[in-house]
Amino acid sequence: MTQHYDFIIIGAGAGGGTLAYALSTTGQRILILERGDYLPREKDNWNADEIFLNQRYQVTEKWLDQAGNSFSPEAFYRVGGNTKVYGAALQRMRAEDFGELQHYDGISPAWELSYDDFEPYYTRAESLFKIHGLRGEDPTEPPASAEYPFQPFGHEPRIAEVAAGLEAQGLHPFHLTLALNRDEANPQNRPCIRCETCDPYPCLVDAKCDAQVTCVDPALQHANVTLQTNAYVTHLETNSTENRVETVVAEVNGQIERFSADTVVVSCGAINSAALLLRSANDQHPQGLANASGQVGRNLIMHNHSALFSISDQPNSTVFQKTLGVNDFYFQGPDQDYPLGQIQLTGKANWQRMSLFAPESTPRSTLEYMAAHSVDWWLTNEDLPRPENRVTLTSMGKIQVNYTPNNLKPHQDLINVWQTHLKQIGFFMFWSQLMPLRVVWHQGGTCRFGSDPTTSVLDLNCRAHEVENLYVIDASFLPCMGAVNPTLTIIANALRVADHLKAAI
Ligand SMILES: Cc1cc2nc3c(=O)[nH]c(=O)nc-3n(C[C@H](O)[C@H](O)[C@H](O)COP(=O)(O)OP(=O)(O)OC[C@H]3O[C@@H](n4cnc5c(N)ncnc54)[C@H](O)[C@@H]3O)c2cc1C
Ligand code: SF4
Repeated sequence: MTQHYDFIIIGAGAGGGTLAYALSTTGQRILILERGDYLPREKDNWNADEIFLNQRYQVTEKWLDQAGNSFSPEAFYRVGGNTKVYGAALQRMRAEDFGELQHYDGISPAWELSYDDFEPYYTRAESLFKIHGLRGEDPTEPPASAEYPFQPFGHEPRIAEVAAGLEAQGLHPFHLTLALNRDEANPQNRPCIRCETCDPYPCLVDAKCDAQVTCVDPALQHANVTLQTNAYVTHLETNSTENRVETVVAEVNGQIERFSADTVVVSCGAINSAALLLRSANDQHPQGLANASGQVGRNLIMHNHSALFSISDQPNSTVFQKTLGVNDFYFQGPDQDYPLGQIQLTGKANWQRMSLFAPESTPRSTLEYMAAHSVDWWLTNEDLPRPENRVTLTSMGKIQVNYTPNNLKPHQDLINVWQTHLKQIGFFMFWSQLMPLRVVWHQGGTCRFGSDPTTSVLDLNCRAHEVENLYVIDASFLPCMGAVNPTLTIIANALRVADHLKAAI
């Protein structure tokens, strides 16, 4: 028998988890269907060998690239989604990112909503996810209606030295805005212990503000909210007379089960949400659900990312390194009139992490020496949405990610510019690695929102243009995402859509 709910939310990650949290107080019957299980709490959460060498918590399925070669995506099917292992650097898009921006390789399109439309939701998202930061340090920061809820994470001595050296060159390093549950002044009051195993590890003591701890667990305190784990939604069925999702079909612990709801919300992550809509093709929707425009799966964006290890003679004994960012080249470079992107520190690299990028013959002792002396950066710039960058399904139903990076020239400019600055403060050896396709951490686009049903999949409330009770609220809705980490925008949008849905109850 089909079980009926007011809302079904498919996917318990940043988007779905936040929506469940925001709707949980309404008394509406809400079912969350999540294909993964809880990430186990175990000592291996903080075991570098397990995280980097054995990919312990990563999915085992393979996807195909555009040439048909299979690859293992760095994706995580868990209650909390990818946020279980995220770096928790949560940032607002810049106000300018909502407008049209000319990049080296073309245009980053304007959104049909403005920064001002999102500002109140960013403020709520920062409060919900306990953001630590200091307003006014970052020259590109957009206007905000509230202070950050928590003091920033302070720099450890080596990073304070680096920050001072950068400031002396006229740059504006700022404290990274982090979603971790810590009280820097009174650490005994909150669970975060500022350890070296944060980014990209799960948090053994549940101090990382991920979507499970922050949203799903509190939502489940309400009797009207149910979570079904190990529930892989295979497809959505529509009725033949109206454009409505009638049935959500899922494999629950291997058994097919059918569910229905007044409103169905897809939030599987940008690649899986597109795949779900494409898998749901039927006679009324032969190209896939909500896809008469042919836009589902298109305009996939991923960011261009590089890890940059910068090495000096001075040992780096920092434990919690991810405390500093630099946006001085966000909108233009010293010799470039186009945007370069964002620089931030990562979690402290160890030899295991470095081994992912080094030639196999590199001795462990060399990697250990380098890790002990390096300061480790993450450089990101915007890739531009292109219709040909798209998610498709093979005839066997496998996910194919047809993606060619673009806007790489400014990315290389950013690496070069950054090395020039680091050389001035004693770094003499650099090792950068552009992230390959398998690093699908910042996937977005694929079901972008807009008012024109021929160029967008969702309307501005994230409801499918063609299916009246279907919403998509994960990273799929993003028409573009600037060069900041995307998740705060996903969370803010889910809170915005929640207000829209609540108004209709
Ligand atoms: C290592 C790492 C570090 C990162 N660091 C940062 C950072 O510092 N800052 C930042 O902003 N972002 C970061 N990100 C990105 C961030 O995690 C994502 O932007 C965010 O989780 C995307 O939210 P989402 O709701 O779109 O998808 P997700 O959070 O991935 O949630 C999708 C959920 O849907 C489930 N699902 C998928 N298909 C189905 C199906 N068919 N049926 C049922 N359930 C399904 C998945 O299991 C998953 O739980 C990082 C990501 C990774 C992997
Ligand atoms: S730094 Fe804090 S939030 Fe991160 S893993 Fe350690 S205890 Fe958890």
